[in-house]
Amino acid sequence: MIDIALLKAGNRRALAKAITLVESKLDSHRDQAQQLLEAVLPDSGKSIRIGISGIPGVGKSTFIEAFGKHLIALGKKVAVLAVDPSSPVRGGSILGDKTRMEELSREANAFIRPSPSEGALGGVAQKTRETMLLCEAAGYDVILVETVGVGQSEYEVAAMVDFFLVLMLPNAGDELQGIKRGIMELADALVINKADGESLNLATRTQQHYQSAFHLIRHGAFWTPRVETCSALNKSGIDQVWTMIEDYKVQADEHGAFHGKRARQNAEWMKKLIHQMLERRLTENPAIKHKMTELQAGVIDNRVTPYNAAKTILDLL
Ligand code: GDP
Repeated sequence: MIDIALLKAGNRRALAKAITLVESKLDSHRDQAQQLLEAVLPDSGKSIRIGISGIPGVGKSTFIEAFGKHLIALGKKVAVLAVDPSSPVRGGSILGDKTRMEELSREANAFIRPSPSEGALGGVAQKTRETMLLCEAAGYDVILVETVGVGQSEYEVAAMVDFFLVLMLPNAGDELQGIKRGIMELADALVINKADGESLNLATRTQQHYQSAFHLIRHGAFWTPRVETCSALNKSGIDQVWTMIEDYKVQADEHGAFHGKRARQNAEWMKKLIHQMLERRLTENPAIKHKMTELQAGVIDNRVTPYNAAKTILDLL
């Protein structure tokens, strides 16, 4: 059993055990995990949740290490989680890997957890959402959710965080990095990393390029995404990134947008889960499965209309 009092007191072992429970694929564990989550729900939500994305090699782990250490120096407790949908294919996650953030992982006020492997309902993103709540209950006040800058995972992470930050390389044109317009719409900030040495000027030009591009895209009502530069390696510009996020928080609070965004995210997530649960019921119920095959044949042979077939299936639920 998980000791909730220990978890709330910030005990790392209790937190790790709770996360393992949440990540379990067993149905019995799922029920226990949900009970635990409901018990800690009143203690959750007090952090700022920051998504960090970017293509492999852009410097995500170097940045998170520098950023995390900066936050810890400010007295924060920092949790680093990861969403890596491809991890089961590779048989292990590269994201959030402790060896990639060696210095940060040695900090008493840092907690690093690699991406869960693909699990039951809701997948990797669902587990990371739940892990985030556990970390908040354990007193972590900044949650960093790392993800790779490819595919669906960016959307999933953007939908669970307060602030979505995309790391970029110094590179003046869109084409060069293949940046998708979608990412520009998701991002609350772009941070041009590796703004050091010979790349310094190019980084500044890249910054101007994206800043003007952002002015053409309508974002939220109160926040125009910003573009910053930094060098994660030299630890320069890291403090500006945090100042920007604090600024966002203040502005979002003033507009009532901070809690509004979370409420919308939760409502959307609930809807998504309902769809997934329904689909699971459909595919797991043997009687429905049988009927489905029968009706499908009927639809193909033009004996049954697709509408009536669908309705018959739903009536069986
Ligand atoms: P990730 O794949 O996005 O996590 O990238 P890493 O953090 O592993 O960094 C990829 C490479 O870029 C490593 O060799 C880092 O040392 C290097 N790197 C990261 N940040 C910087 C930076 O600010 N400046 C320079 N010059 N190199 C960096």
